[in-house]
Amino acid sequence: MKLERFEGCWTALVTPFNRKGEIDFEGMEKNILFQMENGANLIPTGTTGESPTLDWREHDRVITKTAKLAKGKVFVMAGTGSNSTKEAMRGTRSNIKSALMSQERIAGIGNIYSDEILFQARLYPKAKANQLNDRILERLFTGINEVLNTAIESQADPGKLPRHYLIPQRGKGGKCPVCNGEITAMKISGRTAYFCPTCQSNGTV
Ligand SMILES: [Zn+2]
Repeated sequence: MKLERFEGCWTALVTPFNRKGEIDFEGMEKNILFQMENGANLIPTGTTGESPTLDWREHDRVITKTAKLAKGKVFVMAGTGSNSTKEAMRGTRSNIKSALMSQERIAGIGNIYSDEILFQARLYPKAKANQLNDRILERLFTGINEVLNTAIESQADPGKLPRHYLIPQRGKGGKCPVCNGEITAMKISGRTAYFCPTCQSNGTV
């Protein structure tokens, strides 16, 4: 089944637990079947899925079980949000630029600043989020921190940003502040990403 249009009813499933603090898979199945009988598509480990209290193995088990029950009948959109940014990235198969801009996974990063973060981390915007190694992830988190703090300090005025930042050069005909190469545009999830193909080769696919 392929989702052609985003429509219909989608239920963000709760994740039931038993008294021992383990996932109550039996209760979960009942809940899922009830939703399916009523024609709802499913969002396991989503907004109301208790994802902050699940460890990553539990997270995966809930998603796998839901997908098995729903197969061919209703759609499943798996929540990959987490209190741990590293885990959120690991559970996300999309490209890193979309993952950064996904407000459900990491709140507060928009199109322009995600470009700057990826530039500072020297990361290719279409790199797969779940294939980044620890060294690159660390660079990414440092980039998120530095760029957002710098943006706050400069009151988001591009003229006050440091010289080695991409934003003042972000656009057609812009030159990379590091290698002086041409800044390139590419469409990702309907938004235009600007990046330097020479400097941002980490995670190239
Ligand atoms: Zn460059």
